[in-house]
Order: sequence, then C-alpha cells, then structure tokens
Amino acid sequence: MTETTPRPRKSWGQNFLIDYNIQRKILDTAEIGPGERVVEIGPGRGILTTGLLERGAEVLAIEIDPLLVATLRQEIPSPHLHLIQEDALQYPYHQIPSPYKVVANLPYYLSTPLLFRLLEERQRISRMVLMLQKEVAERLVAPVGEKNYSVLSVMAQLYADIRIAFHVSRGCFRPRPDVDSSVISLTPLPHPRVSIRDEALFRRIVRGAFGHRRKRLANALADAGFPRDQVEAALRKIGLDPTRRGETLSLAEFALLADTLFD
Ligand code: SAM
Repeated sequence: MTETTPRPRKSWGQNFLIDYNIQRKILDTAEIGPGERVVEIGPGRGILTTGLLERGAEVLAIEIDPLLVATLRQEIPSPHLHLIQEDALQYPYHQIPSPYKVVANLPYYLSTPLLFRLLEERQRISRMVLMLQKEVAERLVAPVGEKNYSVLSVMAQLYADIRIAFHVSRGCFRPRPDVDSSVISLTPLPHPRVSIRDEALFRRIVRGAFGHRRKRLANALADAGFPRDQVEAALRKIGLDPTRRGETLSLAEFALLADTLFD
C-alpha cells in the first residue's frame, strides 16, 4: 500500500494482517483451487485478496470503507476481483451463484451477527474460513457443559462442522488488536445435525434457555414468553428435569423439547 493509504478506522475494526505466514495458512485451510468463487468480507488493504487471486480464485470482495475500496481498485486492477462497497450485513448473498467459499478476516464488532447471517446462507456455501476473536471461535466449537457453550454454539453446530484451525497472536496485525484471534474452518452440513420440525421455534427456545443462564429451564422459558404449563408438560413428557438450567441441554435435547412443544 502507498503513502496515501488511509489511516485505520477503529470503528470498522480495521486491524490489518501483516504476517504472510498467516496469510498462507488461511489460504491453505481454505484449499482454494483455480477458478473457485470466493467471497471475501472486509478485504481491507488486500493481503488475503492478493493471495486468493494468486491462487486463481474469482473474488467478490465486500468492503464498507470507500477509501479502502478506492485504494484497492487502484492497486489490484484484476479482472478476477469484483469489489463492492457495501455493509456486509446488508449484502444480498442469495444473488451470488453457488457454490462459493467465504474467506475473511472479520472485523471483531461484526463477527457474531455476520456468522448468524452467513449461516442463513449455508446451503449455498461450501466452506467458510474465518479469522475471529478467539473467544468467539471457542464459543463456536464449545460442547455442552463447557463454559463457552452458548446460543452461537448450538445454532452453528446444528448447521455445520466447525474446527479451530489455528490461533493467531496480536503481533500479526497493525494496529495491534486488544484481543487474540483464531482461524476457524466451518463446513455447512447438507441437513441439520438433528432433525427439527420447526427451526424458528427451536431458535426461540435456545435463545430463551440461554437468556437467563442461571435460571431453571422452565422459569427461563416462561420469562421468554412460553406458557409455563405447556413447558412443564413438555419437559415431563420427555423426561427432562425442569430444574435443569438451559445451558446443560445438548443439541438433541433442545430438538426433542422443540418438537414436543411444537406438538
Ligand atoms: N482482510 C484485511 C486483512 O486481513 O488485513 C482486513 C481485515 S480488518 C480485521 C476488517 C475489514 O472489514 C476492514 O477492512 C473493515 O473496513 C472491513 N469492514 C468493517 N465493517 C464492515 C462491514 N460492515 N462490511 C464490510 N466490511 C467491513
């Protein structure tokens, strides 16, 4: 990047990767082949973008910062790069021909809402390789019973296989971030891991159960607007102890509860 490169904007999570060894490891994890379609969110100064192009990808890069977009247009004049200046949360992903991969070093402030948004598009995405806050990566892979087990764990594990590929230290970025990072590889499943009759109801139950982590399940769900008598009857029917806390339920138990309440 040149001397005219804009100063990093903290509000847009602009911590730029400067370590080419990490760039290579991200690209290796994504297993990019020639001609492959890749969506990059937040190309920034283009460290991943240039690597993706060198490996032969067709890249659609969505960047919110108009100054960075203008600089990238000048510095990477490739016919294989399609740059879009837009908020990645608002982008109409359904318009992208499938399948495609998502490769991104996400801005920290956006990682959780964007993950939920991308999970909605999972049927068209073959793999996501994402750099995230370490804590979010740990939530994504946390099994039931672990302290990081959360709504994000349940919803992501319902729809995808996820692994932490490697961790990245703060020194690999400029400016240096306040948190540690991890790269995850997320492969959407062809079907949800457990079958569920009504996915919207399942989501409401999971959110309700985690809404008051310290409360008993029946109380937490009653607080979330579910009729208490119906919740208690459903719990009795499937043999779940109503004094358990929501955060102790496995994916399969949440599914069973959702299907019973659906009835
Ligand atoms: N990919 C570059 C790298 O690895 O150095 C930049 C990563 S930086 C952590 C995050 C990038 O996302 C920044 O370029 C920032 O401007 C961009 N960004 C922030 N919010 C965004 C949004 N809502 N939509 C699209 N891009 C966004």
